[in-house]
Parts: sequence; C-alpha cells; structure tokens
Amino acid sequence: MIVLDKVHKCYGPTAVLRDCSATIKLGEVVVVCGPSGSGKSTLIKCINGLVPFDRGTITVDGVSVADKHTDLPALRAQIGMVFQNFELYPHMTALQNVSLAQIHVLKRSRAQADARSEQLLARVGLANKLASRPGQLSGGQQQRVSIARALAMDPKAMLFDEPTSALDPEMVNEVLEVMQALALEGMTMMVVTHEMGFAQRVAERVLFMDGGEILEDSPKAQFFAHPSTERARQFLTKVL
Ligand code: ADP
Ligand code: MG
Repeated sequence: MIVLDKVHKCYGPTAVLRDCSATIKLGEVVVVCGPSGSGKSTLIKCINGLVPFDRGTITVDGVSVADKHTDLPALRAQIGMVFQNFELYPHMTALQNVSLAQIHVLKRSRAQADARSEQLLARVGLANKLASRPGQLSGGQQQRVSIARALAMDPKAMLFDEPTSALDPEMVNEVLEVMQALALEGMTMMVVTHEMGFAQRVAERVLFMDGGEILEDSPKAQFFAHPSTERARQFLTKVL
C-alpha cells in the first residue's frame, strides 16, 4: 500500500531523512518510534505530499507521490492524517468538522455528508456530541472527532503523528481504543507514537528511526525482545 524507496530529504545542509526505505502492506499496522528530531514527522508528511523530498520515491497504492503528473489533492484525500494537535476548525461543530471535506472534496451533498459523519462520530463514541464545538470537548474527544474526519474520506490508509502526545493521561486510552478497533477492521496504518503498549498490542512491525535513518524495521516481538541496534535498545529502556 505504501512503498518508500531510498527517500532522502535535506533542510538546507542538514539531511533529515537518509535513504529511508520501507513497505507497508495492505491491512498492516506499523508503529514508527524514535527520539525527538529523528525525522518521524517529516517521513509521515512526505507520504502524503505535505513535504517535498529530494531523492527516492514514495508510492501509495501504486501512485507516485512526487510524480508531477500525480493529482496530489486526490491522492491526499485517500490518505487520512491525524495530528498531535487535532487541527479542528474551532468555530464549527463536530458534525460540521467531519462533513466539510466530504462536501468540498468528495462533492457529497450536505445531507449525505452529515449522515456519514453521524455514523462515524457514533463509531468513535461521540453520538451525543454532534453539535459540540471543539472548545466544548475534551482533548480525547477532539482527537476522536479528528479520526472520524479522516475516516470520512474513505481513506486507503491512515497516518497518525503522535496522536496521543498532547492528551492528558486519562484520555490516552479512549483514543488508542478507537485506533485499535480500526486496526482490527483491517485499516492500513502507520502510527508515530511512544505508546509502546499500543505497539505491543496492535502493531505488526516497528520502525525505529534515529538521525533521519530507519535503523530497524522488525516484527514487533523481535523489536521488543532483541532490538538489533544499541540505539534502539537505549531508546526502549527510556520509553518502556
Ligand atoms: P520528529 O518528528 O522525529 O521529532 P521531525 O521530522 O519533526 O522529527 O524533524 C526532523 C529534523 O528536521 C529535526 O532536526 C528538525 O529540527 C528538522 N526540521 C523539521 N521541520 C523543519 C523545517 N520546516 N525546516 C527546517 N528543519 C526542519
Ligand atoms: Mg514529530
């Protein structure tokens, strides 16, 4: 579903992604971890074309992200993104936030979009919050709205960038549970997170990044039991 081949990116003289290669298969859940500044967010943003890269290729379901003939808005609509800070529109209700891109990008009628939004908000446990604005919701609820919004585009894959890092501890689980349910339903997911419990329960594979490199790409059991690099081993002693 997602293939990265020797992706290289610099900001000025500094390489922030160094020949990153990885393959995420249909239905697979891959957790990406690594220290702050290792390039995780940049890698995720390259996949849906939010950030350009200098060399290498990325394809999503066979479509090359950097090819100038690719319809990038169309490709982006097929990749759901969930960010650390929710990025909801504060003046809109939960329902309106989830309906917006369905109407403007997928050209659904408002009635069709709202029906789908209601369904998805119910699925993330927010059936009774349709008319609430983000400011009236907890962080965990806001993040679940943003997951519903991404799902509303019927994406081929979902990318999560530290979706629980901005949440109070008691709200982390309600978001992870929604993500786990999604994984069980077969969604292809790439999840940047330091929640190693989630990785152990849900991921098939773990990518470990440091200094812009993917240093490990291992089945989760192997990653947690026998990390093959010293840097990954040190990282694990800090986050486990
Ligand atoms: P992570 O998500 O793993 O913390 P990032 O992908 O955000 O790492 O950042 C990787 C490196 O790229 C860091 O050194 C960061 O300072 C740098 N970086 C990220 N975005 C920019 C930018 N827009 N301009 C310059 N440097 C950037
Ligand atoms: Mg980041």
